[in-house]
Amino acid sequence: MSTDPLHRPVPVPTRLSEPFWRGCAEGRLCYQQCADCGGSVFKPQDFCPHCLSSRLTWQQGSGNGVVYSFSVVWRPQTPAFEVPYVVAIVELDEGWQMMTNIVNCDVDAVYCGMPVSVTFSPISDDVALPFFEPSAR
Ligand SMILES: [Zn+2]
Repeated sequence: MSTDPLHRPVPVPTRLSEPFWRGCAEGRLCYQQCADCGGSVFKPQDFCPHCLSSRLTWQQGSGNGVVYSFSVVWRPQTPAFEVPYVVAIVELDEGWQMMTNIVNCDVDAVYCGMPVSVTFSPISDDVALPFFEPSAR
């Protein structure tokens, strides 16, 4: 049941992504790490993309990173998205990247290399979306 007043599409956790979404619901940004090569892995996978090991474990990240790249969206795909908003790839301190939104700042203030930290936005009773906001680091 959606508690989101904007009725945004709600992600459906899969076997692979369930630990990630559970972490988000609990306020933790999690990613996989390879026990053989130490590489960080995201999105969730069965095998390490660096060395093909299947020995992946879940880790809790710091939630800190920088904007790697971004775009400002002015035409929403559905009316559920209020424009303008920033779609960004954030590079996390642990060496992995994720696509997300930059929130709690003006779209014109976002730049590549901008320090950001995760903030979680509940979208249903069970799912919280990981967004990023400017950080004072
Ligand atoms: Zn590996």
